[in-house]
Amino acid sequence: MSRPSNPQLIDLRSDTVTRPTSAMREAMMAAEVGDDVFGDDPTVNSLEERLASLTGKEAALLLPTGTQSNLVALLAHCGRGDEYIVGQKYHTYLYEAGGGAVLGSIQPQPLPVQPDGTLSLSDIGDAIKPEDSHFARSRLLALENTHSGKVMPEAFLRDASELAWSRGLAVHLDGARLFNAAVATDTPVDRLAGYADTVSLCCSKGLGAPLGSVLVGPASLIGEARRWRKMVGGGMRQAGIVAAAIHHALDHHVDRLADDHRRAERLAGGLEAMEAVESVSVNTNMVYVDVGAAEVGDRLKEALKAEDILIAGGRHIRLVTHLDLDDAAIDRVVDRIRAHLNA
Ligand SMILES: *Cc1c(COP(=O)(O)O)cnc(C)c1O
Repeated sequence: MSRPSNPQLIDLRSDTVTRPTSAMREAMMAAEVGDDVFGDDPTVNSLEERLASLTGKEAALLLPTGTQSNLVALLAHCGRGDEYIVGQKYHTYLYEAGGGAVLGSIQPQPLPVQPDGTLSLSDIGDAIKPEDSHFARSRLLALENTHSGKVMPEAFLRDASELAWSRGLAVHLDGARLFNAAVATDTPVDRLAGYADTVSLCCSKGLGAPLGSVLVGPASLIGEARRWRKMVGGGMRQAGIVAAAIHHALDHHVDRLADDHRRAERLAGGLEAMEAVESVSVNTNMVYVDVGAAEVGDRLKEALKAEDILIAGGRHIRLVTHLDLDDAAIDRVVDRIRAHLNA
């Protein structure tokens, strides 16, 4: 019942590709539900309470996607003519179709992302505008943990949030993969969430739920976000079936993220040994492999596709481990990549 249409398929394109397990589907089937727009869905309510408490925040809000979660966070923090400071490779700037600007008239102030995924503190300090009618009002610092699999060092999170707060800005953390960061560094999630006012968590990535993101933060901001969620069409009705999947994921799929990280290391180790590979890097559940030229990556992608292995092409190939991959799948991928790159 929970099998993909092709059970042989090995999909390394993203950790969003996982299918709900049979046990997760049973939990969804058994979920008590109500109308969540009326606040009547007990499973959504208990999930929101659970994630607020787990992250040390007052309140939480279930949304269909991480993009909508980040969007309503921007809209709750910033008004028309306000500005958010953000990494120019962060999701909230680059991969959300410009939603903050289009729908909120919020000006992004993008900054270069450092090799470790952080921003430079002096860049942030310099980007905060003084109170002056020439400038947009700097309102928010938006961070991302993990970024391309990289765990933001806790010292950076502390210094960046202190800087933002001391200058009157709020902090939003795109924690789509915050559980990966917490498991990889053995740090409690509430400590990592404590460096931001609001945090967005994705449940359809490493946690393996079919959909759903949760925004956590102070009750006042979450109340605002709830209003924006309705406006952008994210008010869902019997959403308890989704919340039940996420409850199940929190019960069973958090500690096992360590397996994804171990498998990413195993995959990287296998790739590093290949002569045709220029370089390999691995962070949490993501492996980046440089195959020297885009055509090499594109050819590899097509050759693997014929063998039911899906990867992205290009020169710098991102390979992502997740719940639907076991050790045998990783070994098969290493073996097939070796065969094709040596051919
Ligand atoms: C996946 C992701 C999101 C949200 O994406 P959706 O596909 O809209 O759920 C947000 N931020 C980061 C860093 C992500 O990787």
